[in-house]
Amino acid sequence: MKQKRIIILIGPPGSGKGTQADLLVQKNKYNQLSPGMMLREEIRNKTAIGRQAAPYVKSGKLVPGNLVVEIMLGKIKHSRRNIILDGFPRSLDQAEILDKFFKARAFLKYVLEIDVPNSDIYKRIGGRRSCNCGKVYHLELNPPKKRGLCDACGAKLKTRSDSKEAVIRERIGVYDNQTRPLIKFYKKRKEYEYIKVDGRPEIKKVHERIYKKLMD
Ligand code: AMP
Repeated sequence: MKQKRIIILIGPPGSGKGTQADLLVQKNKYNQLSPGMMLREEIRNKTAIGRQAAPYVKSGKLVPGNLVVEIMLGKIKHSRRNIILDGFPRSLDQAEILDKFFKARAFLKYVLEIDVPNSDIYKRIGGRRSCNCGKVYHLELNPPKKRGLCDACGAKLKTRSDSKEAVIRERIGVYDNQTRPLIKFYKKRKEYEYIKVDGRPEIKKVHERIYKKLMD
């Protein structure tokens, strides 16, 4: 049997992780596992997890690990397809747990860093509109075909509640302090193939570069 691939996406908020994951999914039928998407659904459905997670997500902080780690490991375990992790791990604690989990499993492991300077992020997140189905658009950089409506399911697009300027600032701080150290963590471990792309060019160009590097 072919070894399963797993791609760990790392990049600041607004770097295009979700958009690029979506394009890879369309091309290669990867399974996209996104704790952010999962948490927003729990919050909408007012489940126990959703109620605990809501204040953290709204203020741009990481939710306590116990709300995401077990669920994510379970999903990885049960996935039959290649996997893209869009937003997990996001701290060294989570990366250590995932690394231990991999020791007993033969995955081809990639880490894909999408690099966008902090100064570009406000503009990107400010214009972002998203759909409950998971699709993400941008008023200028990636507009939907019909204004305000999702191309995939036709539902009305929304602005995420964590897109306000103060929250964006908090999320960038969380990325710099808690997630950025993962870059060093993975670069040190040779069993992860490290790939870095410049996330600033237009969406299609970034996708083509990612695709080429993954296929090399
Ligand atoms: P995202 O959709 O990836 O931007 O995530 C939205 C929010 O969900 C984050 O700001 C966090 O509050 C929460 N979140 C997503 N992934 C994680 C994670 N791996 N660990 C803790 N909290 C997370």
